[in-house]
Amino acid sequence: MKRPPIVVVMGHVDHGKTTLLDYIRKTNVATREAGGITQSIGAHQITHNEKQITFIDTPGHEAFQKMRSHGANVADLAVLVVAADEGVKPQTKEALKTIKEAKTPFIVAINKIDKPGANVEKTKQDLATNEVFLEGFGGNISWTAVSAKTGEGVAELLDLILLASELEDLTAEKDAEAEGIILTAHLDSRKGNVVGAILKNGTLKIQDQIFSESAKGKVRTLEDFKGESVKAIYPSEPVLILGFESLPDAGENFGTNPKKINKPVNKKTREQGTFTKNEKATNVILKAREAGSLDALKHIIQKLNKDNLINIVDASVGDIYENDIKLSGTSEAIVLGFKVKVDKAAKTLANNQKTEIITSDIIYELEKYLEELIQKKASSHSRILEVLAVFGEKKGNRQVVGGRVVAGPIKNQENFEIERGGKSIGTGKIMNLQSQKRDVLEVPTGNEAGMLIESNEKIEKGDKIIFK
Ligand code: GDP
Repeated sequence: MKRPPIVVVMGHVDHGKTTLLDYIRKTNVATREAGGITQSIGAHQITHNEKQITFIDTPGHEAFQKMRSHGANVADLAVLVVAADEGVKPQTKEALKTIKEAKTPFIVAINKIDKPGANVEKTKQDLATNEVFLEGFGGNISWTAVSAKTGEGVAELLDLILLASELEDLTAEKDAEAEGIILTAHLDSRKGNVVGAILKNGTLKIQDQIFSESAKGKVRTLEDFKGESVKAIYPSEPVLILGFESLPDAGENFGTNPKKINKPVNKKTREQGTFTKNEKATNVILKAREAGSLDALKHIIQKLNKDNLINIVDASVGDIYENDIKLSGTSEAIVLGFKVKVDKAAKTLANNQKTEIITSDIIYELEKYLEELIQKKASSHSRILEVLAVFGEKKGNRQVVGGRVVAGPIKNQENFEIERGGKSIGTGKIMNLQSQKRDVLEVPTGNEAGMLIESNEKIEKGDKIIFK
């Protein structure tokens, strides 16, 4: 059988991905149905010219990069959204990189053409500078100008999607074993493990045994993207599956034949921190509604946590319960929740043992909180220089080293401690401090510094010089 294309919309934040998906959904799914669409599947299907298209609902924040790259692998076709008033931005480039790595065919939607500042020609030029050569502009990449706000050009975009997918020869076997990809997973207090997925081949039926890379189960109920109970699901259709015994991760393959699922691993329900422990770090326990959101939160911490000032003690999917607070008590951790509720008993215990709980439904808020926490930590914390190079031989107790001031400022004539692999190995003193080849009295955070130092220890690249 021919199967509908699975399409992912990518691009820079605020360039209109969500608005475009909303517009398409509203105008191409009967209104009665649109209201009932379950957001948690992570995908929906529309009909255009009597043909189906499956869209993956990808969130726009940079932190969703991991999910997004899974998204591109799931997808048969990507639509790169570029706002005509801004042109190519960092996340446009990031999206292009992901698309190219995944070898996903793509088309371009130049959006926001209704805005006074829109400049389609400049945007095309911008894209060409980034090696995206559009049709009629020196290349063969299909494109169309749209306004996700007024709907202008959106029907043409859908035409282009169907046309591009014709070229891809998208076929599937209905009678084959079911194979697909997990898009979302969360724990629902009433329904249990709720998993959103998309089928790429075969038919998935109620009572089928199912296996993902890290979880297994038996299909109890299937819901289509309109929230209606169905007996079977076919290729390219989004589906909500109940029946997994534990929660798989977003991006995992799943299917009815365990032999076809790569890398089966024994998944622990709770995952231990993956970050290098730093004695002075703040411990955190992460909770999120879905595997994808948990990934997002971890990604943010990874990005902010260059100096290992945050240590993830535990990360799991689900609301915040007493057990989490108990764990936070023993590990003196802050509990961070993304799109989760706090159970009543958990609240009481947290009050009693003075555990800090921070929850929000907005990822930026959590990011801001973490940023401030790290800043506070860094300023109350010693000042640090990371050694990037050691110049020449050690002469007597003198050595010349260069590095980056991770937390500053650092000052000439200061005494310091040398840390290697998280352990203090000795002390020393700056005899001369340079920045950009000039003698200076101090070097602020973020800058590189050269130092003549005196120490009995031989300093190596990668060491941390700590000033108290
Ligand atoms: P996303 O981050 O890429 O999902 O971007 P959004 O869809 O959230 O859009 C960001 C902002 O741009 C919102 O305020 C939208 O209303 C606005 N926007 C999106 N598309 C258009 C468009 O075609 N024209 C205009 N004027 N505004 C748009």
